[in-house]
Amino acid sequence: MKVTETWNEKETFALGRALGENAHPGQVYTLLGDLGVGKTVFTQGMAAGLGITEPVSSPTFTIVQVYEEGRLPFYHFDVYRIGDVEEMEEIGYEDYFYGEGVCLIEWADLIEEILPGHYTQVVIEKDLDKGFDYRKITMTEK
Ligand code: ADP
Ligand code: MG
Repeated sequence: MKVTETWNEKETFALGRALGENAHPGQVYTLLGDLGVGKTVFTQGMAAGLGITEPVSSPTFTIVQVYEEGRLPFYHFDVYRIGDVEEMEEIGYEDYFYGEGVCLIEWADLIEEILPGHYTQVVIEKDLDKGFDYRKITMTEK
């Protein structure tokens, strides 16, 4: 388990970017945290670290958004609106989870039963005692 504290948006972006720069094929990250905590900021950092220049936001109409212009393919999942894991099967999630790209899965606790045997869990939390812009980012190898 590794804890990183960030004190502004740029630091969270930089952490994501460092992970993107060092990512390797087949890596899976899950991303948990309340609305407005910085999941999109972190994701944009990771995309930047992979060399993706196009704008990255949350996949609104699809479960997964695919970015292919970077050093490795980047598969950004947001499973928040998913009904059941059957929807993941319909989109062929295994090709992404066990492929050559890097997966980042928001709200992954909703699809826990199909997560791969190994992944890195990223949890972002606020602590208002430490200020409005403080975030505690905990990474755990699962
Ligand atoms: P989410 O995707 O989790 O809903 P966003 O990334 O869209 O959240 O928004 C996070 C908001 O919090 C942004 O407005 C950002 O500027 C702000 N913010 C303040 N401090 C931080 C920090 N340390 N890390 C990330 N975002 C921060
Ligand atoms: Mg978001």
